Amino acid sequence: MSAAPTPLTTEPQLIQRANALRTLIVAARREEKTVGLVPTMGALHAGHLSLVDAAADHCDLVVVTIFVNPTQFNDANDLAEYPRDLNSDVAKLAEHGCQLVFAPPVEEMYGPHHATFVEPAGVAEPLEGAHRPGHFRGVATVVLKLFNIAPADVAYFGRKDYQQCLVVKQLVRDLNVPIEIDVLPIVREADGLALSSRNARLSPQERRQALAIPESLQAAADLVQSGETSAETIRLRMRSHMEQAGVKVDYAELVEEGDVTPVDRVTGPTVALVAGCVGKTRLIDNRTIG
Ligand code: AMP
Repeated sequence: MSAAPTPLTTEPQLIQRANALRTLIVAARREEKTVGLVPTMGALHAGHLSLVDAAADHCDLVVVTIFVNPTQFNDANDLAEYPRDLNSDVAKLAEHGCQLVFAPPVEEMYGPHHATFVEPAGVAEPLEGAHRPGHFRGVATVVLKLFNIAPADVAYFGRKDYQQCLVVKQLVRDLNVPIEIDVLPIVREADGLALSSRNARLSPQERRQALAIPESLQAAADLVQSGETSAETIRLRMRSHMEQAGVKVDYAELVEEGDVTPVDRVTGPTVALVAGCVGKTRLIDNRTIG
């Protein structure tokens, strides 16, 4: 019996220093290679890997950053308990066409005299911005730093973090950052739960409760499908569905597609956005309805 062929994998180069990464990327671009950047906080799953696959499909050089950014955590416990597994992340990336992994120590990103932050307003203010003070300030700061350290042609983000995508697009527009932002669809488990590094923290019972989150979005879509246009009615349905399952709801909102402005009536492209805690784990999700 012949052995099954081993899939072709190339171990990516692991880089910890900002200057080392920048030098490699500048050299690649001088050779007219296109560079794709995928910023992550690691504990990689199929959602992250879908971004890496897109980068590999469109770019000559794929760079993945793995950095659990302390400045975007408003909750010290969440930061302390955030899952980390660099070895397994690198092994996964080897199978998805990533050549460079940037995994800097915290001191490399925030030296002892670091004192400059990006303060995003506008689309950063409501929803996550209101419930996680300082979160988008940390996100915008680290994303701009990563764009400067890794001057790529395209950066890939997931629609799972809908508001984050808007904040990053606003940042790039407002501060004239020469990079294209590509947003890719949410990858879900077979039962509908959006993949998230934080899912690993759910107990089996919490995992069942968490299903109420995508179910509430489905309920919103069903209501719209059946002719309901009142945002208030739909919001209440989403909230009560999650609350009945024991999810502590932060918000259940309906906004205009491509923005964070709440709608009163669902008459055009609308995004249902939800956030809540299952036990100690905070999860977010969204879905286009109408
Ligand atoms: P994170 O590691 O949570 O900071 O996520 C890194 C990137 O992966 C972000 O652009 C996320 O939006 C994206 N991402 C996370 N989960 C998913 C998912 N289930 N589907 C698609 N993209 C995702």
